[in-house]
Amino acid sequence: MPVKDASGTFSGYRASNRDITERKLAEEDLGRSRRALEEEIDRRRTAQEALAESEADLKRAQDVAAIGSWKLDIPGDVLTWSDAVYDIFGMPRDEDLHYGSFLEAVHPDDRDLVKRSWRLALGGVPYDIEHRILVDGAVKWVREKAEVDFSPDGSPLTGTGIVQDITRRKAAENEQHKLRQSLAQVSQLSTAGELTTTLAHEINQPLAAILANAQAARHMIDEPRPDLAELRETLDDIISDDKRAREVVQRVRGIMKKDGGAFERMEIAGLIQETVRLVEKEAFIRNVGIRMESDPSLPQVVVDRIQIQQVLINLLFNAMEAMADGGPDRGITVRSAMNDEGRVVVAVEDTGKGIAPEEAAQLFEPFYTTKQGGLGLGLSISRSIVEAHGGKLFVRPNPRGGAVFSFTLQAAQGSAR
Ligand code: ADP
Repeated sequence: MPVKDASGTFSGYRASNRDITERKLAEEDLGRSRRALEEEIDRRRTAQEALAESEADLKRAQDVAAIGSWKLDIPGDVLTWSDAVYDIFGMPRDEDLHYGSFLEAVHPDDRDLVKRSWRLALGGVPYDIEHRILVDGAVKWVREKAEVDFSPDGSPLTGTGIVQDITRRKAAENEQHKLRQSLAQVSQLSTAGELTTTLAHEINQPLAAILANAQAARHMIDEPRPDLAELRETLDDIISDDKRAREVVQRVRGIMKKDGGAFERMEIAGLIQETVRLVEKEAFIRNVGIRMESDPSLPQVVVDRIQIQQVLINLLFNAMEAMADGGPDRGITVRSAMNDEGRVVVAVEDTGKGIAPEEAAQLFEPFYTTKQGGLGLGLSISRSIVEAHGGKLFVRPNPRGGAVFSFTLQAAQGSAR
């Protein structure tokens, strides 16, 4: 807009100048607010990304920990599960759920526990329990935490909780339990060995009585008119002493064969693997590596799993102990192969202190030990177990230094490959 001064002379385009200035200002304003907006958008995007990321993190963490969450609308009996819970329970995502559908999936033996806990929660006591569920017939373990929210008048409104799949942890605990049991059995066997000594003299007593009575009986029949009544009595004594000795032996046998000797047909490689797993932690602590080498074409064996495990555990512990003050390359190799006679041979090779030739014969004697606090029964018990399986346990030097303890087992009939 033309601007004139007081005299009316044109003095320029102030207005337009002002227009430009205003436009510029407006543009600047606009620019500022656009930038602010962009910044805001950026901020929100970052926040959203962070949120998405933390949600993803949470989901990942939940996936790793196999945790899911659930909510139960108590009055309406509508149960809502997070995806992870569907996965844990192995159910399709579109399944309509209510409390009963959850309860149905609970292992029948644990339903009482779950119901009791839920009743407590309805009474205002949150719970944190572990129970089993059945997923397509397979047993899974879950940890279940739950609590109930109440309306102001005290009636239960919603239950919320988390479910965690703890099947793997339970399996590990189970394994630990088995290890403890096995070790307990080893000590039971050792106790049985100690018991044998104590009981040996209990057997000696009847044996001595039998001998004395037998000699007496012989004198009696040498007499011209033997006292038959006394002879009968003496023979009865012999019989009852013999019975007593037999009972003592059976008692020891009973203790040695805790499990009643359940012989099963199995792959020796699997049994070795299972046993090595039991001592793995101990080996790790002692910095000993255990390698397994199995001939894949080995026939099956028929063994008492627990007893052969005892033998392997004894040999593995002896091997570890023989390497206690050894060098850095401590290692055990458990090899299974077939020998020339068609028997399965299991060898536990160590690189420990080895065995002096004059020592070799004594090792298997009961109570021979070079260890402080050793019982000297492991090898003698192992040998009797192997022999009860129709096999042999022997030792030879390891060409790489150390010792190799091997035992043979008969191949199961008709299982040669
Ligand atoms: P202990 O419980 O005392 O070890 P064992 O009957 O198992 O009883 O072993 C008897 C002895 O045999 C041990 O004290 C040890 O001197 C020797 N021995 C066993 N295994 C080995 C091995 N792998 N290397 C060297 N010596 C061994």
